[in-house]
Amino acid sequence: MNSAANSQTKVLRGIPVSAGIVIGRAHVVETPRLKMVYQYLLDEKQVEREVERFLEALHSTEQQLANLKESMPEAIRSHGFIIDAHLMILKDSMLCDATVEKIRKEQINAEWALKKSLREIRRLFEKIEDPYIRGRIDDVEDVIDRIIRNLAGDDDPPLGDITQRVIVVAHKLSPTDTSEMDASKVMGFVTDVGGRTSHTAIMAQALKIPAVVGLETITQVVEDGDLLIVDGISGDVIINPQELDIIQYGERQTQYHEKESLIAKSSHAPAITKDGHRVIVRANIEFLEEVASAKENGGEGIGLYRTEFLYLKARGLPTEEELFLDYKDAVERVAPEPVTIRTLDLGGEKFPHFSEPLSETNPALGLRGIRLCLKEPEVFRTQMRAILRASAFGRLQVMFPMVSGLQELLDAKRFLDEVKEELDREGIGYDPNLPVGIMIEVPSAVAMAEVLGRHVDFFSIGTNDLIQYALAIDRVNEHVAYMYQPFHPAILRMIRNVVEAGRQCEIPVSLCGEMASDPLCTGILLGLGISELSINTRAIPVIKELIRALSLEEAKRDLEQVMALSTASEVQEYLMGRMKPILETLGRGESFLELSSTGK
Ligand code: PEP
Ligand code: MG
Repeated sequence: MNSAANSQTKVLRGIPVSAGIVIGRAHVVETPRLKMVYQYLLDEKQVEREVERFLEALHSTEQQLANLKESMPEAIRSHGFIIDAHLMILKDSMLCDATVEKIRKEQINAEWALKKSLREIRRLFEKIEDPYIRGRIDDVEDVIDRIIRNLAGDDDPPLGDITQRVIVVAHKLSPTDTSEMDASKVMGFVTDVGGRTSHTAIMAQALKIPAVVGLETITQVVEDGDLLIVDGISGDVIINPQELDIIQYGERQTQYHEKESLIAKSSHAPAITKDGHRVIVRANIEFLEEVASAKENGGEGIGLYRTEFLYLKARGLPTEEELFLDYKDAVERVAPEPVTIRTLDLGGEKFPHFSEPLSETNPALGLRGIRLCLKEPEVFRTQMRAILRASAFGRLQVMFPMVSGLQELLDAKRFLDEVKEELDREGIGYDPNLPVGIMIEVPSAVAMAEVLGRHVDFFSIGTNDLIQYALAIDRVNEHVAYMYQPFHPAILRMIRNVVEAGRQCEIPVSLCGEMASDPLCTGILLGLGISELSINTRAIPVIKELIRALSLEEAKRDLEQVMALSTASEVQEYLMGRMKPILETLGRGESFLELSSTGK
């Protein structure tokens, strides 16, 4: 707790995860059932009845999740895969079979048996290195909590009884809780736990509801009906504010709305620097449903459509028709702007259900991206056919990931030609001039860029992987995360070399790694000669606005200074001094904190 204005007014500071300011009454959500589970022993005759009761609760849970997926609000439909994951957890034998076994062997009630199963599953998760996957224990808890609610015969969703506009106060909010509520009644979210990448954060952003998480004790301090001010920009939550607080925050709220609507208007205008240099700003997406927010935020088409999702969520391989409809829909919705479809980049940590994870000592250096596709020609052919067929319906460009040299590129292009011939024989239409590009994300491709550039129509620099491979830093290994340095002079030199190769080969060079979405990097990327950025949808308005406040001449001068520096921290410090004040002048200081992964 930071301060107390008087005996009732309290201020808590948490992590702001969805911007905006709201003033309203609290609706405190009951603590998860998991905490209120007790053990009782069964006698012999009750055991089978208990197993049945458990299986019925599983069945109701499954039905509820399936219904929920059907009725998800449009704005969060792209997160439906979370519910698919919950359905998979529900059917996992570690949860269902193990719990039935405990009820039978130990003759205990279903709730207690479930809690014991959770303890075992939690122990397994604790051993997982990847922090994202380790964090998914939250999903297991959400599923178990729902089963326990069903065991108690309570199928009312915790947020289903909201009738007036309120601010939801909860220990945590599961994605399914969020999907079940009437979003039009929720003014804001505040929770005890959660971080920047928690599901609550992602959902709140998708629904454009201000949210602050990680407040630790908010559920203990706030009572139902208390007046709250939630500042989703600073992370402050004021409980029972004074008259003056309400007036001040009311004014800030109005200013925020005015600024937002101004940005929304200007986000559709092109990004042209003060000295007249045009930068194309496209969107990175992973799901078809994100096309809407890409357009809404002023994205000039899609610069990177990561296509792994349909392969990761399904139990089997997606069919050509399924892929075709997905790509065609994207192309038609984005027309006349282009959609850049990246062919499958599976392998590494992303392993599909259709194949067993290979046992590789270094998966990031293993059978990944274009290598895997060339080894699995049937999978590749199906995707290629879908891409080519969709190209007849708008502007589509295709790009290959993880290309490490010319031979691989020629093999992939030959494959594409064979599929084109196949379609010709079948009389199926496609765009004969389909532009073909490659991701530049392996250091050998940087070294060979002027050779590779003669065989493609564009380059897109994938700095996420380029940094990993160039600096020998596993991008998901937290022990070396401190060395993952986008501003390493080696990375800046590599980008400069690729831009130069693009210029020699007369092809456009775009950049689609996280650096493109980071406001701290915008000026230096301009100076390096990048003419196209592909970025996270929510970063588009700010990056466009920032480009308009910069000049190419100044950016080039900055580049000269930066290229004379020898370490990543020197570069970062220099850029911080240059970019942060510009953002603050634009009134976007908070976006800097929200979007910059390098400036914190
Ligand atoms: C990259 O590597 O920079 C990139 C954009 O691709 P991904 O993050 O999907 O590997
Ligand atoms: Mg990559």
